[in-house]
Amino acid sequence: MTLLCTGAAGYIGSHTALTLLEQTDARLIIIDDLRTGFMENIALLQRGFGDRVEFVEMDFGDRNALETLFSRVQIDGVVHFGASLIVGESVQKPLSYYHNNVANVIALLEACARFGVKYFIFSSTAAVYGEPDSALIPVREDAPLAPINPYGTSKMMVELILQDIARISPLRYVALRYFNVAGASMKNTPELLSRGLGLGQRSKNATHLIKVALECAVGKRNGMSIFGEDYDTSDGTCIRDYIHIDDLAAAHVSALDFLRENGESAVFNVGYNHGYSVKEVIQVVKEISGVDFPVAMAARRAGDPAMLIASNQKLKRHTNWQPKFDDLRTIVRSAYEFECSLRS
Ligand code: UDP
Repeated sequence: MTLLCTGAAGYIGSHTALTLLEQTDARLIIIDDLRTGFMENIALLQRGFGDRVEFVEMDFGDRNALETLFSRVQIDGVVHFGASLIVGESVQKPLSYYHNNVANVIALLEACARFGVKYFIFSSTAAVYGEPDSALIPVREDAPLAPINPYGTSKMMVELILQDIARISPLRYVALRYFNVAGASMKNTPELLSRGLGLGQRSKNATHLIKVALECAVGKRNGMSIFGEDYDTSDGTCIRDYIHIDDLAAAHVSALDFLRENGESAVFNVGYNHGYSVKEVIQVVKEISGVDFPVAMAARRAGDPAMLIASNQKLKRHTNWQPKFDDLRTIVRSAYEFECSLRS
């Protein structure tokens, strides 16, 4: 089968592409405009899997380029990672988020409809829940959708669009609501890392907590801030459910199996059922790296809910997905080793 992976030059897409190449016989066509993605990630995939990986540099919302691509190859399924994904930025630039995360996806879905694509795996997010009622945590998929920032709203909109399309067409979809993804490939070895051939999170302007803290640990930043310590949580800082990138990648293979076996659509959370506060995460980064970098207290960041923890029961019940790296230290250690390799 041939899968079109949008945005797979990025962090989640590249790790998932690697897992799809290892665990299925799919051929992948990766499209990415390289605005936030990295050619290094594509090169690593092509190095390992040769002509099973084709790369086309293009915007996933470019109607003409999609027409050319879909006319040339029969695409069985789309795994759609391409998106703008920074919560704070979405508050500042809502139109840009709705353009990329909704309007461009409509162009992609129109191509899927015209060319009879059967499967669509969509990168959704815990942000669709907004600020869930504390009585509903760990949050289940049937909790009310009430995003509190344009990023979450844009992802919710596409979930609703997919629901409507699946009602009237053969397309079946799985929306995976990612919680807080972190860590680097567990396939990285010291040898691969020393040769610059590791897979992990490369970001041009990192904003995510673990990445920012690691950049402090390796000396790329002088220090960092905690955005708010007056939340109604155990230590006053926000709590998130951090999931290892390889477990998240594996959830896409499970989603594909689900689509092929069941012929129906579904929405699944992908997380670990428990969470850590910002302070706890920073402490673990300091312990693993052995560096006590400066941390300042700052005001709350717009659009941040106090607590987001996934119930993963539905994913476990309906697919063969089982988490393998549910351990904050493993997540941070893998990411730290990768971050160190980026220095050299
Ligand atoms: N955070 C922080 N300092 C930073 C980056 C993030 O205090 O430099 C906090 C952020 O306010 C949130 C949590 O860490 O409460 C997780 O944020 P991140 O951006 O990693 O993921 P999000 O949950 O927004 O997708």
